[in-house]
Amino acid sequence: MSDYDLVVVGAGIHGAGVAQAAAAGGWSVLLLEERGIAAGTSSRSSKLIHGGLRYLETARFGLVRESLAERRILLAVAPHLVRLVDFHIPVYRETSRRPWKLRAGLSLYALLGGLGADARFETLPRSQWAALDGLDTGGLQAVFRYRDGQTDDGALTRAVVRSAEDLGAQTLLGARWLSAQRDGDAYVVHWSVGGRVAECTAGTLVLAGGPWTADLQSRASPVGPKPQVELVAGTHLEVSGQITKGIYYVEAPEDRRAVFVMPWRGHTLVGTTERAWTQAPEALQPSAEEVLYLGQCLERHFPQHPAEYIDAWAGLRVLPRDGGATSATGRTREVQLAVDDPQSVRRVAIYGGKLTGYRATAQKVLERLRPALPARPPKADTATLRLPEAT
Ligand SMILES: Cc1cc2nc3c(=O)[nH]c(=O)nc-3n(C[C@H](O)[C@H](O)[C@H](O)COP(=O)(O)OP(=O)(O)OC[C@H]3O[C@@H](n4cnc5c(N)ncnc54)[C@H](O)[C@@H]3O)c2cc1C
Repeated sequence: MSDYDLVVVGAGIHGAGVAQAAAAGGWSVLLLEERGIAAGTSSRSSKLIHGGLRYLETARFGLVRESLAERRILLAVAPHLVRLVDFHIPVYRETSRRPWKLRAGLSLYALLGGLGADARFETLPRSQWAALDGLDTGGLQAVFRYRDGQTDDGALTRAVVRSAEDLGAQTLLGARWLSAQRDGDAYVVHWSVGGRVAECTAGTLVLAGGPWTADLQSRASPVGPKPQVELVAGTHLEVSGQITKGIYYVEAPEDRRAVFVMPWRGHTLVGTTERAWTQAPEALQPSAEEVLYLGQCLERHFPQHPAEYIDAWAGLRVLPRDGGATSATGRTREVQLAVDDPQSVRRVAIYGGKLTGYRATAQKVLERLRPALPARPPKADTATLRLPEAT
């Protein structure tokens, strides 16, 4: 008999989600985190709980439908952490996505979202343009408005960890996972904490290291097949002055990429960029070019907006490798799961995925591990269990 049914490495949103789902399923769980809850990508996202309107351009219908279903669940179980906000898409003469295309995309988005009241979109009459946070109206041809979700990603992750703990999971912070070796029906897991090395046995193991997952997998035995992925950095710029009418989905003047301008903690957030990253994840910093690019994008659309620099930070997307041939936006956000032995799965490594889909991802991970997990009476269903306040 193992010390734990499941050991999870990494307390980003995916590790938190797996720990919560496993504890809800009645299994004993240990969650190991080296830096701090949501210290990695899960506090550096665009903080949107959304289907991803732009993923329709690459026909990711399944992903969009699943994400919109997850949005609906999160709005119900975490109304204190996830809320619907107005999204505006301004269309200028030079905007590459034309009104007909946006109308078609928003109609499909509404369809995939279940056609409820939250799924409706509209075209704003000209008389309302002046009320849009000083949006530049020179050459403006149309403004679309629809609704989508916004959250505080770090707070959401902390709330999911707390929910896991309420269900009986143990969390160890400051615990650097070192290695794990499969020994028959269990893994022997090693980590360092406070300068000493500790170990336990676990019936199953989940590696949820975000941009560190490939490195974690290399230190597990057997290593198993690894998906071909690459890291793409995305920077956000935070400036003074808060926009108040919701989120704007604009095109960067330089390369026509979609960029969000969002209200955030009394300030305004602009993001993101795309930059290939080949160094260690912890070495990532926003570059001066990225800050300039985002600043210019804000200035183009909100020329009167104060642009006093507050902060900038970057996170790493884990995307299928294609040598940068396709833009990061064009590549799938679908999560990839790598297992140790397809005939007898006891370890799953999580690559990529979305904040929005963390709960669905956790279900997929547990489906892969279920044959190896002992029968236990479930304690809760994460689709209906209300999340606590974030600690
Ligand atoms: C710029 C950007 C914008 C995004 N915007 C959105 C968005 O708006 N909406 C959306 O749905 N998704 C978005 N995403 C995707 C989403 O943020 C990520 O999919 C998600 O946060 C990844 O979470 P994770 O748990 O896999 O990884 P992480 O959050 O990076 O967590 C990994 C954890 O593992 C820990 N760890 C690593 N090595 C060890 C070790 N040896 N021992 C112990 N712990 C270890 C790290 O400290 C870290 O806490 C965005 C991503 C980026 C990069």
